[in-house]
Amino acid sequence: MAIIAAVEAGGTKFICGLGTEDGKIIDRINIPTTTPEETMSKVIEYFKDKEFDVMGVGSFGPIDPVKGSETYGYITKTPKAYWSDYNIIGELKKHYDVPMEFDTDVNGAALAESWWGAGKGLKNVMYITVGTGIGAGAVVNGTMLQGLTHPEMGHIFIKRHPEDTYEGNCPFHKDCLEGMAAGPAIEKRWGKKGHELADNERVWDMEAYYLAQALMNYILILSPQRIIMGGGVMKQQHLFPRIRKYVQEFLNGYVQKKEILEKIDEYVVYPGLGDEAGFVGSIALGKLALNAK
Ligand code: ADP
Ligand code: ZN
Repeated sequence: MAIIAAVEAGGTKFICGLGTEDGKIIDRINIPTTTPEETMSKVIEYFKDKEFDVMGVGSFGPIDPVKGSETYGYITKTPKAYWSDYNIIGELKKHYDVPMEFDTDVNGAALAESWWGAGKGLKNVMYITVGTGIGAGAVVNGTMLQGLTHPEMGHIFIKRHPEDTYEGNCPFHKDCLEGMAAGPAIEKRWGKKGHELADNERVWDMEAYYLAQALMNYILILSPQRIIMGGGVMKQQHLFPRIRKYVQEFLNGYVQKKEILEKIDEYVVYPGLGDEAGFVGSIALGKLALNAK
């Protein structure tokens, strides 16, 4: 059986490891994300004595995952210090001559969930992470959605909650979804971190109000068969019933499908791969490279 090297490049840490074609983790380590030089030298050190057939790399965005593009394999213009215009695949290619697949961490997670997790057996699955940022990946007809570049579904505009006076903290759009509903926005609006606000009704009602609007838009545009939600903020599992209720309320019967009208508990769900969705996502990307071999 082939061995897949996997790298999940995150804003706070890189996870590197090995996995199998059926999505099982063989080995993994965490490396803190500092400068590209420092972080990547540790990544390269880790894989030095390992044997593998292909490599999958899922990264925080924005990235250029479009094969043939001039900046393919780059982390592009990111507000993350030091990482703007960094050719991560180019660097890895210098050291490993194996087929590689590169995409966003959330597209990888969506693919992994559709093969091995909560979306098993479905060809149209979305994965959304609500953490330091908000990112969403979509598998449409079995492949990841990609066009000009990857989708950036965390930055859509949503309607402001009538009681919300927080200005929003997206450096590009201020009060887009990420600017209003990612972990740091919760912390700035309420003056405490999300996990310290667990008992505050208003916090989670407002959070669900925003996330449900996003889900409604995604449902209307992409028609996913299931929506999987992970990331630090979704650890507040009581958000799920609140989000489901608002999704039904906002759609208001427009999409006449039992998945939404009757079985929404099985339609908007926590990742089947739990906290591993991102890393197993990179194994899934590696498997794509293997399939293409
Ligand atoms: P990242 O997005 O950096 O990969 P996470 O998905 O863990 O990391 O998201 C981190 C964000 O999630 C932080 O803003 C943090 O405050 C928030 N968060 C983490 N755990 C919880 C929790 N149990 N409840 C609410 N918010 C949380
Ligand atoms: Zn934005």
